[in-house]
Amino acid sequence: MTGKDETITLIGAGLNGPLLAVELRKRGFKVEIYERRPDMRRVRMSAGRSINLAISTRGIHALTRAGLWDEMRKIIIPMRGRMMHSASSELTFQPYGKDETEVINSISRAELSIALMNAAEEQGVKIHFQRRCLGMDLKSGELLMRDEESGTERCVDSTAVIGCDGSASAIRGAMLKRNRFNYSQQYLDYGYKELTIPAGSGGKHQIEKNALHIWPRGNYMLIALPNVDGTFACILFLPFEGKDSFEKMVSRSAVTEFFEARFPDVVPLMPDVADNFFANPTGSMVTVKCAPWHVAGRALLLGDAAHAIVPFFGQGINCGFEDCTVLLELLDQHGPEWEKVFGEFEQARKNNTDAIADLAVENFVEMRDRVADPRFLLRKKLELALEALYPRQFVPKYSMVTFHRIPYMIARKRGEQQERILAELSERIDRVEDADWKRADELIRGQLAPLEMS
Ligand SMILES: Cc1cc2nc3c(=O)[nH]c(=O)nc-3n(C[C@H](O)[C@H](O)[C@H](O)COP(=O)(O)OP(=O)(O)OC[C@H]3O[C@@H](n4cnc5c(N)ncnc54)[C@H](O)[C@@H]3O)c2cc1C
Repeated sequence: MTGKDETITLIGAGLNGPLLAVELRKRGFKVEIYERRPDMRRVRMSAGRSINLAISTRGIHALTRAGLWDEMRKIIIPMRGRMMHSASSELTFQPYGKDETEVINSISRAELSIALMNAAEEQGVKIHFQRRCLGMDLKSGELLMRDEESGTERCVDSTAVIGCDGSASAIRGAMLKRNRFNYSQQYLDYGYKELTIPAGSGGKHQIEKNALHIWPRGNYMLIALPNVDGTFACILFLPFEGKDSFEKMVSRSAVTEFFEARFPDVVPLMPDVADNFFANPTGSMVTVKCAPWHVAGRALLLGDAAHAIVPFFGQGINCGFEDCTVLLELLDQHGPEWEKVFGEFEQARKNNTDAIADLAVENFVEMRDRVADPRFLLRKKLELALEALYPRQFVPKYSMVTFHRIPYMIARKRGEQQERILAELSERIDRVEDADWKRADELIRGQLAPLEMS
């Protein structure tokens, strides 16, 4: 058992690390963070780290508890729905939720990370930059650290270590060497590339500001999220190989021709598309599942280190911040009995993080392909109409995941049940008004118990 005078060591000052550090300091613990990168507040950020994130209810809940959400509000842009751009440049807007309160919030990953690091340091957390964790002796609790500037290595003693070191976690690497550690990683055949739409004249957004823009093209897609400075952070998701793929983008002309043919309305917005394209690396996307997440009371994995997911439900950090909420609730309940806290944390989270990992993969098909299908749009409208009639029974899957804190596992199961109901009700109609409301009532009352909402 660790007393409050002992130091808790966090590996990784990305997003989960500093948020957790703020909360642990507030509870009186000494906290140190080791981060392999230089301090991005002092060193120019490397290309490929300018992704925007969509923060929603689970993330907002955790930030509010930490007293940070009011500050974050200044650097977010609410997105009320998806703005679809067809191949012929037609626009269709599809709201995310039932009203103006159900929005997702675009935030720059770098700005969020900086705000969280500032908050952690204000609380007295020491962040050691350019200190890469090389491994951990899980018996003694000793960490091996390398100073990335000088190349020197040294051991750091620690009683409790929390690996917040992302999808390629070194702490998970140490756990992998143990007997009976379960591990799987599944890469998508798709990569991603960050691009930017610059601000228009007077720093104005060149396209609708309060929307997440999607250019769905069946097998691939482009998305754009607004920034407060009038720019849009875009991500192109494309297969690594095949007809329209990263392997074909070998020259400036190949990139320009691809954009002119597939995303004609983007070309005037992004005049330097080829420069943009080649300035950034191509990222890969992986789902990581593993267990157990903890070793005695000495080490725990949290966030992407425990469960990296693909980005298509916009839940990676929302899920990670929810991890922090659950861990802190258990800590408040049990005190620093780390073995108990870590064990119960994994029990509470593992099934739920597995569920969102699967939902995120499924949502890729929805975003790149189905959002352009009129039958899908009809179902979406029908979902919202049913939610208005049965607000505690029929909550769309997207809303359960994004606008509520309903456990992901329940959201997945209910989502499947609701999908079957929607399939039946939308089978022979072309307009929501023509739905068989009597049958809807029978199905919903017969199959869906009221949800516990939070
Ligand atoms: C293209 C893309 C789009 C996304 N969009 C969304 C979205 O819209 N909404 C959402 O909720 N999530 C989104 N995500 C997911 C989100 O970015 C991650 O879930 C989140 O960053 C995980 O936070 P983390 O703190 O666990 O890990 P990270 O943010 O990866 O931070 C880990 C930190 O640990 C450091 N580190 C790594 N190894 C070591 C080591 N050995 N020693 C010391 N330090 C180390 C790293 O430098 C890093 O700073 C997206 C991800 C991608 C790739």
